[in-house]
Amino acid sequence: MLLEVRHIHTRYGKVGCLEGVSLSVKEGEIVALLGANGAGKTTTLKTISGLIHPAAGKIFFKEKPIDALLPEEIVRLGIAHAPEGRKIFQKLDVLENLELGAFIRLDKSEIQRDIEEIYQLFPILKKRMKQKAGTLSGGEQQMLAIGRALMSQPSLLLLDEPSLGLAPIYVSAIFQMIQKINKLGKTILLVEQNAHMALKIAHRAYVLETGRIALEGKASDLVNEPSVKNAYLGGS
Ligand code: ATP
Repeated sequence: MLLEVRHIHTRYGKVGCLEGVSLSVKEGEIVALLGANGAGKTTTLKTISGLIHPAAGKIFFKEKPIDALLPEEIVRLGIAHAPEGRKIFQKLDVLENLELGAFIRLDKSEIQRDIEEIYQLFPILKKRMKQKAGTLSGGEQQMLAIGRALMSQPSLLLLDEPSLGLAPIYVSAIFQMIQKINKLGKTILLVEQNAHMALKIAHRAYVLETGRIALEGKASDLVNEPSVKNAYLGGS
């Protein structure tokens, strides 16, 4: 198992948010984490990447406990988080954002090679190389956020709502890109409101409801699950 989250409880002050969440991600998988607004999806990713520490429970990455580590230590172990709302450095240009994604690395020529690979994956970023990130379109900012996360050479990529707020033409492009990144060897834990698209590309999925895992299974099975259809797939 690449990632194993065991029964984590996360709270904001006195208010409980996650109430014993367990999930696992195997090497090579795309695992989707679905759920309504406020269910705790972002909090789950933040707890894995060390931005919040769980009040109880354990998290293992490559068999090593990581729940007490700092975010930077977790990045060094091979987990990169592309956060919701993108959180790129708006005033820096595209290239500078990508370079900052490699902050844990010293291998200058390899960093250069990886930037070229990101440009191959997202050619528009090469065109916009010298443009301030804050002036990019929503879809381009999302690509930059994913590209920046890839620059730390992660084995596990945490993606928080990559399709949120994107123009429809970008939505299918971003899901295709996620699939491509997975085929290039990255394991992905994907938080999404767009359950329909997420279940199309995921191998397995979990459904989070008010801080608890309500359902889990193969993505192809969950698509046909009546409760998932009604709550997340528009009853279709
Ligand atoms: P969304 O899709 O709306 O982002 P989500 O499933 O990602 O939802 P979270 O952002 O994890 O949900 O939030 C879960 C709960 O925790 C919500 O009730 C939210 O109000 C609360 N919460 C999130 N961040 C904080 C915070 N910094 N302080 C206090 N409460 C918070």
